Amino acid sequence: MAWSRFRKKRDMPEGLWVNCKRCNQTLFTKELTSNQQICQHCGYHMHQSARERLETMCDAGSFVELWGDLFTKDRLDFIDKEPYPEKLRKSASKSGLTEGAVAGTGSIKGHPVAVCSLDFAFMGGSMGTVVGEKVARTIELATEERVPAIVISCSGGARMHEGALSLMQMGKTSGAIARMHDAGGLYISVLANPTTGGVMASFAALGDIILAEPGALIGFAGPRVIRETLRTELPDGFQTAEFLLERGFIDRIVKRTDLRDDIATAIDFLWTYTDEQREKYAASGGPAETSVVAREGLEGEDAVVGGSEAAADRNPDAP
Ligand SMILES: [Zn+2]
Repeated sequence: MAWSRFRKKRDMPEGLWVNCKRCNQTLFTKELTSNQQICQHCGYHMHQSARERLETMCDAGSFVELWGDLFTKDRLDFIDKEPYPEKLRKSASKSGLTEGAVAGTGSIKGHPVAVCSLDFAFMGGSMGTVVGEKVARTIELATEERVPAIVISCSGGARMHEGALSLMQMGKTSGAIARMHDAGGLYISVLANPTTGGVMASFAALGDIILAEPGALIGFAGPRVIRETLRTELPDGFQTAEFLLERGFIDRIVKRTDLRDDIATAIDFLWTYTDEQREKYAASGGPAETSVVAREGLEGEDAVVGGSEAAADRNPDAP
């Protein structure tokens, strides 16, 4: 029978298409990538890698990775189903990453920023010493350079393979954010699906602005643990971004394709770069130059005019 040969997996080219996890529609990977891994049928936000997130959020070619040479040490000689170093090696080869976070600098619509994104593909985006260190360094760099910091979280929480050392990252990252706040810095936290455990209980929840992707699972313990501990039924939509928005825990739900515009608008409203920064980034050319020229006439009215300018940028037909 002619159809029988199509049943064999080897006749299907690998990686050409995937099924949406929510609506089960077949999606071509090429189209999915051009739509930032969002299902065109139901809007479900599928997994996006840290590098893809940072590259699509930052101005083209502006992202420069830092601290890519940080590697994890197995200080506890930890073994579960396999030795921890073996697990790290496998995760690295599967994800193409050296650890669960990618960090660096870039610009968003001309605004220089320090950025970090966790990647669920590397051990569930779990926070060990290196992930914690990259988040802390991103915040510290932003404080030092006086630029906004943006951290995109996508994580199952602290990494049990590093025991108390992973829990210490909660204190380390929170401390860096507290020092940034004392210095008058701006930190925007973006919660992707899922953001849970020690990550949600530390830096992910400490943003001056907290944005979340639609439908993202956000919480500390999972719903099953809570249900069994409290012995009660949980409300519909418990621990979703929408549930938390209604209760004032997050500021805004942003579709991934709108994230760049929304962050640029927030920076326009809340941040002013120094003259030295303007000169430095104007000299480097590119999108920063456009922004600096546009902003130079806005002295004294930065927030209001800058904000509507960004809105006009999104909608060229706006007056
Ligand atoms: Zn779908």
